[in-house]
Amino acid sequence: MKYFAPSTVEEAAGLLAQPNTKVFAGATDVIPQIRAGRPEPEALVDLKKIDRLVSVQRTDAKWVIGAATPTARLTGNAELAAEFPGLVEAAGLIGSDQVQSRSSLGGNLCNASPAADSVPAMVVNGVRAVIATPGGGTRTLAVEDVPAGPGRTNLVPGEFVVELEVDRAPARTGDAYLRLIPRTEMDIAVVGAGVRVTLDESGTVTDARVALGAVAPTVVRVQAAEAALIGSKLDDAALAAAAAAASAACNPIDDKRGTIAYRTHVAGVLTRRAAVIAGQRAAEKNGASR
Ligand SMILES: Cc1cc2nc3c(=O)[nH]c(=O)nc-3n(C[C@H](O)[C@H](O)[C@H](O)COP(=O)(O)OP(=O)(O)OC[C@H]3O[C@@H](n4cnc5c(N)ncnc54)[C@H](O)[C@@H]3O)c2cc1C
Repeated sequence: MKYFAPSTVEEAAGLLAQPNTKVFAGATDVIPQIRAGRPEPEALVDLKKIDRLVSVQRTDAKWVIGAATPTARLTGNAELAAEFPGLVEAAGLIGSDQVQSRSSLGGNLCNASPAADSVPAMVVNGVRAVIATPGGGTRTLAVEDVPAGPGRTNLVPGEFVVELEVDRAPARTGDAYLRLIPRTEMDIAVVGAGVRVTLDESGTVTDARVALGAVAPTVVRVQAAEAALIGSKLDDAALAAAAAAASAACNPIDDKRGTIAYRTHVAGVLTRRAAVIAGQRAAEKNGASR
């Protein structure tokens, strides 16, 4: 297997035009998969030597996170964590400290595991993937449109994610991500739930987003749960309706980590709890944007 370490997006795109060539960022999925018997590509292209792919930038309008940035650098970014605590907590759940020093949001997204922890948290924050195309340009896809099924994405051969961009959070907006795993750490989510809410000055929800992981082949955005929260003050009835909608949106597998009935139930419980946390965070921001 050949190893390439390009220093520009253009160079990486050129290398990726060769057949049977694959990009990697942290390789915390790629190497275990090859060791477990997946076919080796002829060449691996390391994205971490490209400055644009490992930088985190904030402007007045948005954050731009290099797709190969180690997640440890996101959990260590106090401004990002204050603005998007749920997203940063989700990134911080990936593996151990050692894994965190390598793992990336781009890798978590493009590995396309239904249980990828950062993906529901990215979806509720409206994160967009900026994708380098073989022709030398870029195109942008909403994160929820990147996974196509377990282990498959909607990227075409020769494409790779350069950046993940997210608009600055509006005032009185809070997000949260919760997952259930059978152990206390280092395990795959049985269910993951991301929620983001925006409140008006009276505490009424004006915008809500709900997304679930590990309950279907790809991340599930639950618009019925969002509708149940919008217009409410996150009272019991609204939370119960959102939980029921989340459970109804599940189409999970049955495996040793959880039965269909268990995953379906837990999706509702976590949605409710994440909505409460997101609401508290939004209220704490009380008018001071971000
Ligand atoms: C011990 C251990 C514990 C783990 N725990 C968790 C966990 O709790 N939660 C969780 O979600 N995951 C977990 N993982 C899985 C893994 O760490 C994450 O999915 C991680 O985010 C992958 O990032 P990476 O940069 O290492 O990806 P890589 O292994 O480099 O790449 C993964 C896949 O994405 C593709 N890819 C990478 N970057 C790009 C890009 N920019 N554009 C296009 N394709 C790209 C690669 O070709 C490959 O197919 C764990 C892994 C290990 C080894």
